[in-house]
Amino acid sequence: LDKKVKQNNWEEGNFINYKKMSENLAIVRSRLNRPLAYAEKILYSHLDDPHGQEIERGVSYLRLRPDRVACQDATAQMAILQFMSAGMPSVANPTTVHCDHLIEAQQGGEKDLARAVGINKEVYDFLASACGMFSLGFWKPGSGIIHQILLENYAFPGGLLIGTDSHTPNAGGLGMAAIGVGGADAVDVMANLPWELKAPKVIGVKLTGSLSGWTSPKDIILKVAGILTVKGGTGAIVEYFGPGVDSLSATGMGTICNMGAEIGATTSLFPFNDRMYDYLKATKRTEIGDFARSYAKELRQDDGAEYDQLIEINLSELEPHINGPFTPDLATPISKFAEAAKANNWPDEVKVGLIGSCTNSSYEDMSRAASIARDALNHGIKSKALFTVTPGSEQIRATIARDGQLQTFEEFGGVVLANACGPCIGQWDRQDVKKGEANSIISSYNRNFTGRNDGNPATHSFVTSPDLVVAMSIAGSLSFNPLTDTLKDKDGKDFKLSPPTGNGLPERGYDPGQDTYQAPPKDRANVTVQVSPTSDRLQLLSPFNAWDGKDATDMPILIKAQGKTTTDHISMAGPWLKYRGHLDNISNNMLIGAINAANGEANKIKNFTTGEWDAVPAVARDYKAKGIRWVVIGDWNYGEGSSREHAALEPRHLGGLAIITRSFARIHETNLKKQGMLPLTFSDPADYDRINPDDKVDILCTELAVGKPITLRVKPANGEAFEIPLSHTFNEAQIEWFKNGSALNTMAKKAKN
Ligand code: SF4
Repeated sequence: LDKKVKQNNWEEGNFINYKKMSENLAIVRSRLNRPLAYAEKILYSHLDDPHGQEIERGVSYLRLRPDRVACQDATAQMAILQFMSAGMPSVANPTTVHCDHLIEAQQGGEKDLARAVGINKEVYDFLASACGMFSLGFWKPGSGIIHQILLENYAFPGGLLIGTDSHTPNAGGLGMAAIGVGGADAVDVMANLPWELKAPKVIGVKLTGSLSGWTSPKDIILKVAGILTVKGGTGAIVEYFGPGVDSLSATGMGTICNMGAEIGATTSLFPFNDRMYDYLKATKRTEIGDFARSYAKELRQDDGAEYDQLIEINLSELEPHINGPFTPDLATPISKFAEAAKANNWPDEVKVGLIGSCTNSSYEDMSRAASIARDALNHGIKSKALFTVTPGSEQIRATIARDGQLQTFEEFGGVVLANACGPCIGQWDRQDVKKGEANSIISSYNRNFTGRNDGNPATHSFVTSPDLVVAMSIAGSLSFNPLTDTLKDKDGKDFKLSPPTGNGLPERGYDPGQDTYQAPPKDRANVTVQVSPTSDRLQLLSPFNAWDGKDATDMPILIKAQGKTTTDHISMAGPWLKYRGHLDNISNNMLIGAINAANGEANKIKNFTTGEWDAVPAVARDYKAKGIRWVVIGDWNYGEGSSREHAALEPRHLGGLAIITRSFARIHETNLKKQGMLPLTFSDPADYDRINPDDKVDILCTELAVGKPITLRVKPANGEAFEIPLSHTFNEAQIEWFKNGSALNTMAKKAKN
């Protein structure tokens, strides 16, 4: 185990450290004295302090040392801007940046890419130059989607990766624990701080039997999503095992892990096996495969490992599924789907079929999908629906161009889009229906929330395997079941589509295509980071003020939010994506989706200094200009949804001091602490109802101490003041963040000393 094996073929000096992992694991084993799940083995072997770390699943906070960091271009901007303000010369842990989210699908691959490079030039220039300056690997626009690139190049069995994107778990297809985080967490690891994660529970999924016919790996996660629902994986890692695993390709396992994000799982993973070895070999990493074989005993669960929940799926009996519309956990087997579509009045016509994305664009996916398209072409018919293909990477695009699948898709009537996220994240200039018009689309993507793909809330978006997308696109109808139904060929004769076939790996190896990688330069003396002071998309950050050491008094309640307040309500996505690198501009979306308990409306609150009703950001800016700190009152699970740190940066930037709720989503709570805010909860959740939006409040900040409540003094406009105890989860280190004004200020202070 003492060999020097490089983590990947792109970087010098970053090695896989199975020896250290094995030593750490031995320490933890001697303490816990019980069989471990594979997820536990990876996490515990990456502990910062394996001797002293408290370990209880679902309870303790683990302090971990990830092997790598990855960021996509939308989230990388703020992460790098924050990293810069910590004043370090280069990243402490290997980090890559991937340009995939900002490319809009309009006419097809090349043209769309060229347009995006023009529109986003300043962002790409900033990212490229900052990557050069601080020694990050930079994957240019056109290189592909972050998760596909990670699987092809960086993932390795037993590794721990954090990525600033929810679908980072895709790398679980190579047995890596890959976890989606907010930019603030990425910054911690770039700056060499341990990264904190609540010790996850482990859900075991035992696979028996084997896949065949129209059933594909995607159907496993579609089925699991149906069982566990969008909340069922929260706080847990989903770990697959059992004899059925061997019938899956590594990329198929990647698909399953990828979409585990839809059930809220921390991550999902598969044990190291021969199929992973094959994939490592095909992607020119045989040495890693051999090294993993020598450590194989620790790259799977121990016999007798205990799971918090166990699910069993017999792959031989598993039917193809279609999930949706509007939520990824509404799972319907194909045999019941036509009936469900009718009963629910889902628009029967399939307007668009979309394959690819980070979820399903492996060589195997493309080959199987092309085999169905070819079958249709052989019968003289094409796709009835509009049809698009999003290759996950330049390597996949080049390989399917060489091997013919791409031409098949084009002959079939398809448009091949850029190697990027495109319609999956709403980067889609859709022309075939008007906004508000009810219609159905079907994709091989992972998410199908209302409006996600095309911004049209009336679009019924379904997710399924690429195989079924192609079949349904040919029929142009949701009531079609390719397993039982026939189609008409060009002469009007009935025929049945043959089940898909295709190689898992390209026989002639992968074609890397164009070179789209920028390595950090050896000599960084001449690199400067490019940010124009007049830019409306990028803005260098200035440090937040430190705490003044006093209690905060007479603060207004900016808004008392009622009901669901997700990170989307706090910092909306969509058109705001553009301003991810400009804190002041993006702050104009702060809390505009939250519902005001005073009037039941969004983005309409009373400015107590003027008595006027105005938009939330406008009132916050007015208070800030007048030097008035403010608080927000929130309901249950405040800040659920994504990990975007903008939802925490914006209230801090506009002068907020505390967010007081019935409860928090954990990532958002931590993000608030990192920005120097006070996330506090009502010790008695019923106290939420005692607060009136017009009240003023004092927070006795000087009381802040680990494990002790802090007092909120409420001063109603008419009536007696009263006190309410508030709880918090600050530890010593986090209290320092508050005192210094932010976690970054704390890091910068340490870097100076
Ligand atoms: Fe996210 Fe979709 Fe891009 Fe995947 S393809 S990284 S799910 S936006």
